[in-house]
Amino acid sequence: MSKSLSDGKSFYKDEAELLYGNAKSGIIVTLLASTILVFAFDTPEVHTQKLYWWIGILALVVARLMDLYSWKKHSLNVSYNAKNFIHRFIVGAILSSLMWCSYCIYISRYASSTELASTIIVVSAFAGGASTILAANKSLAMGYAAIMLAPFSVALVLSSQEYQFTLGLLGLAFSLVMVMTARKSADFTSHAIRLKNDNAELVNKMEQKVARRTQKIYQLSNLDPLTGLFNRSAFMSHMQEQLDLSAKNSIPLALLFIDLDGFKKINDTLGHQTGDKVLKNTAERLKALQGDQQLLCRWGGDEFLITFMAANEDAALAFANSVIEKVSESYDFENNRLFISATIGIAISPNHTDSADELIQLADTAMYNQKKLSPSSVGLFNSELGQRIVRENQLKVGLSKAIEKQQLRLVYQPIVASKSHQVVAFEALLRWDFAGENIPPDKFIPIAEQYGLIINLGTWVLQQSCIAAAAWQALNNDTRPSVSVNVSVLQLYDENFINIVALALKNAKLTAENLTIEITESIFSNDKIIILKCIKTLQKMGVKVSIDDFGTEYSSLSVIQSLAANTLKIDRSFVNMLDTNGKVIIEAVKHMAVKLDYAVVAEGVETQEQAEQLSALDIEMLQGYFFSKPIELHDVEDYLLNNSPKN
Ligand code: C2E
Ligand code: CA
Ligand code: CA
Repeated sequence: MSKSLSDGKSFYKDEAELLYGNAKSGIIVTLLASTILVFAFDTPEVHTQKLYWWIGILALVVARLMDLYSWKKHSLNVSYNAKNFIHRFIVGAILSSLMWCSYCIYISRYASSTELASTIIVVSAFAGGASTILAANKSLAMGYAAIMLAPFSVALVLSSQEYQFTLGLLGLAFSLVMVMTARKSADFTSHAIRLKNDNAELVNKMEQKVARRTQKIYQLSNLDPLTGLFNRSAFMSHMQEQLDLSAKNSIPLALLFIDLDGFKKINDTLGHQTGDKVLKNTAERLKALQGDQQLLCRWGGDEFLITFMAANEDAALAFANSVIEKVSESYDFENNRLFISATIGIAISPNHTDSADELIQLADTAMYNQKKLSPSSVGLFNSELGQRIVRENQLKVGLSKAIEKQQLRLVYQPIVASKSHQVVAFEALLRWDFAGENIPPDKFIPIAEQYGLIINLGTWVLQQSCIAAAAWQALNNDTRPSVSVNVSVLQLYDENFINIVALALKNAKLTAENLTIEITESIFSNDKIIILKCIKTLQKMGVKVSIDDFGTEYSSLSVIQSLAANTLKIDRSFVNMLDTNGKVIIEAVKHMAVKLDYAVVAEGVETQEQAEQLSALDIEMLQGYFFSKPIELHDVEDYLLNNSPKN
């Protein structure tokens, strides 16, 4: 056992505690015993001396009791000097033993045999008691026992009387045993004290270790490792406190939903490391703005939340604007000077809701809405937005049951050859009759995408379109129109998508060449590798691929090249602008398409003039109200009959 562990203050404290803790009864017994011995035996020769001695003992007892009292008071103070008290105790105890020793030796010459025997029993008892009561200090315990009994015994041995000689021998033997016992029990006690202190030290160390581990676990489970801000779960667990405080003090609580603008671009173009630096730096800026009672977290990706107490709407807006200002300051890293900004949505409790989850959701909605309206600015949640959410929820629930309730149907819009106006295909367009209300696909398709309903819907559309197109192939008619089906990017991500297409073709007995998949240009901002792989597989099966709404988004030329789609569908906004610069753009697209071996469709053709102009530009196919609005399935056959090419 290392000494350094147990040496030191705590060891002395334990020693003092043991000595003083056992002292009171010992001191009182001393007084009792001395009183009895002095007054019970009448020894006329030494009567006065005995009285003086007794007064001396009385004084010593009082002094020792006062010392005990003083120790009691001081020991309450953790940093009291225990060593000092031990010395004082030793002095008191040794003085007491010396007084007994001198008493015994002095009276041994005058006392009767009874008094002598009584006296030796009393001091033997004291010597015996000392071996345990004083065990906390080895020298004291041994010294006390020895002084108490040994000199007296020697004096008796030296006396001329035989019974005194015998008593003296017995006393000597007893004092030897007592000294040995005192030594043993002192060793034992000091060992115990050391053990106790070592244990305390060990426990202390363990506690420190546990505290460090707890801190680590706290960090791992509560803090975002990149920014050191609260993570989602920690934020949520403290959010309720904020709401309670706000309710208790009747002070509104604003929640700011902060979403960075331009972060994704930095991440994509300059890499994740730079992205991480930007996020860390943003977190530091937000921390600097964070007030005492405000809660801040990284909600995910490039989203942060911060609460703002004492907020009326204006104060919350002002604070949010200061956040945008701070985030918009330049980020200077090594050779780069970067700029990002933030869009912030605000919801206020209790005005908008008093639930934490909902408050975040509403602020998120306000942010999302603001980003569409005008990025890098602040949007406050309002009731109109709230109604929109309620509506969206209704649509979501309704849409999830729309197939089962047979509220969905497909209408088909012809795509014609520009020269002959012969129908070459029909585009399948989804319609939803939601309890008598026609919901346009522009409204419900995004909801289906957002809430994971698009896979089921899209599968149903594919199945129905293939069945319809298979029927058209069997018509007694020269035209064998194919079918074009709009497919959402989420369907392309679905690993089962190829199987779904294959099964739809197989069940409808439609050859793959009669199916075209329309994908919007915007999907190329997503993960290109998965999408390109999916599209290549479809093409290998014989399915054609058309790029929808071409020109509205930013498909890079290289992607279009590697994609090797079959058709480009020029967005109707360019057709609308044919009179102005739309023509130049369409010419350019056509030029490129020829080089890449694509066919071109122009959609949204509404007038004969547009149709003629596009035909003159050698655009192969046309689609639009000029030819036909989307028609019901049961009208397709008639439509084909009436519009078959005039031979
Ligand atoms: P889109 O694929 O660009 O479809 C063409 C849209 O333009 C259709 O609107 C069509 O009715 C409309 N349109 C056609 N000719 C003209 C015209 O001459 N002038 C004008 N102003 N509009 C014309 P619709 O049916 O409302 O569809 C809107 C969008 O909804 C579609 O745009 C497509 O992106 C999406 N959509 C429709 N059905 C489905 C579907 O089954 N699945 C998926 N994923 N999306 C669908
Ligand atoms: Ca389309
Ligand atoms: Ca389109």
